[in-house]
Amino acid sequence: MEAMKKGNQRFRTGVRQNRNCLNEQRASAAGQYPAAVILSCIDSRAPAEVIMDLGIGDIFNCRIAGNVQNPDILGSMEFACKLAGTKVVLVMGHTACGAVKGAIDNAELGNLTGLLAKIRPAVEATTYTGQRSVENYAFVDAVARKSVEITLTDIRKNSAVLAGLEANGTIKITGAMYNLETGIVDFFG
Ligand SMILES: [Zn+2]
Repeated sequence: MEAMKKGNQRFRTGVRQNRNCLNEQRASAAGQYPAAVILSCIDSRAPAEVIMDLGIGDIFNCRIAGNVQNPDILGSMEFACKLAGTKVVLVMGHTACGAVKGAIDNAELGNLTGLLAKIRPAVEATTYTGQRSVENYAFVDAVARKSVEITLTDIRKNSAVLAGLEANGTIKITGAMYNLETGIVDFFG
């Protein structure tokens, strides 16, 4: 958690760590010990390694539009935490998320329809006084945050492996929101 928080601090203040990717590649070739598994959106402006100034071998990185969970993602997280020794599961949403906007608008397109359906419960669960539309950035971001919270609940509910590791104190499961405008990753815990 500390490495991610300090890395984001470096990123947003423009003092990124001077790293040699070739050295990192060589040093990690024989084995990997990533500290965290991150579930974040495919959004091109929110690459976890870049915005938290991390290098090769530092994190497992699951990316899917709207950072929703599914059995394959849970399987990946279980591999990370149970078999590779990863200690943190971080679900990271972001502001102005296109997938969240699509869910609010009930957008329909091929396989995307089913993906957006996974975000719909967050739209309904978001308590918000004011305009509940994609034109209201504050509402869009409130839904994105709620969606991260629901995803955290779903991870615990749908993965006995991860819930067990959390219960016995082996791993931490938590969320964060990345702000595209400020570059700040706001960690829930
Ligand atoms: Zn997004």
